[in-house]
Amino acid sequence: MTIVQTKNLTKKFGKFTALDGVNLEVKKGEVLGFIGPNGAGKSTTIRVLLGILKATSGDVTIFGKDAWSDAVEIHKRIAYVPGDVNLWPNLTGGEVIDLFVKLRGSNNKSKREELIKKFDLDPTKKCRAYSKGNRQKVALIAAFSSDADLYILDEPTSGLDPLMESVFQESVIELKNQGKSVLLSSHILSEVEKLCDRVSIIRQGKVIETGSLNELRHLTRTQLLVEAKQTITGLEQLQGVHDLENKKQGLSFQVDTEQMDRVISHISQFGIVKLESAPPTLEDLFMRHYEVQEERGAHTGAGGDN
Ligand code: ADP
Ligand code: MG
Repeated sequence: MTIVQTKNLTKKFGKFTALDGVNLEVKKGEVLGFIGPNGAGKSTTIRVLLGILKATSGDVTIFGKDAWSDAVEIHKRIAYVPGDVNLWPNLTGGEVIDLFVKLRGSNNKSKREELIKKFDLDPTKKCRAYSKGNRQKVALIAAFSSDADLYILDEPTSGLDPLMESVFQESVIELKNQGKSVLLSSHILSEVEKLCDRVSIIRQGKVIETGSLNELRHLTRTQLLVEAKQTITGLEQLQGVHDLENKKQGLSFQVDTEQMDRVISHISQFGIVKLESAPPTLEDLFMRHYEVQEERGAHTGAGGDN
């Protein structure tokens, strides 16, 4: 079942095309990672989903309803955390959490208390006294104590320390176990790798890849370090071999994952004594796309946070 869907979503600001035919889908019970560099269009997409911005063209639905005209209806069932949280300066953190949770029509006091403890927040302080990280915690606690069907999190952990990052991850996994749907925009790749069932990568207003991490890994390279009895030759000529380098510890190079088989059988002729391989990460995947971007001439559009 589809919870969020954008079809050919385009958003222009004047002459500038921020979103250029974005297709995105969040299915029921999944965590979709929405990743891309600053200025790629993540927050703009999310603002359209929230009904804050009107799409220039395209279809945008949440729970099968129109994100713009049915926003009121939709908002009863979603929780949202932005990357830069602004709160009422004169209310305490606890008051803000209660306010958000009540607005969403849920009232789970024990969940609220549990999260305040886990995130180590002092809820009695006025919001004006909170650091960015503490404002972030207030918004996260409010969202996670709300009983929503869809959680939209836009780079929600910027400003959190590593300990809190893991509390955040536990909370998202808990949502997933309850069958909730989550759209998580992030530039923290390890976070996405740990939490997401599928990933959509956006660059310059276009979704350039969508798939499970396993599906996207075919695009990545594996780092190998090999030591052999004989000198390994002929690697340069093999397809899919990159960044060949003779190091003290052995021959170091990268292999396109789909060429791995051929490369391994080639090097095995030379009597391998040591073989180290590092698994492809999302970082590699990202780098490849940046490289392609640079080769084609870097885009000079305005960048922006959030
Ligand atoms: P991200 O969240 O991926 O960092 P954004 O969605 O915030 O990216 O921004 C996408 C692009 O749209 C950027 O180039 C940004 O400068 C531009 N943009 C965002 N909001 C506006 C706006 N209100 N007016 C004009 N340009 C905007
Ligand atoms: Mg953003």
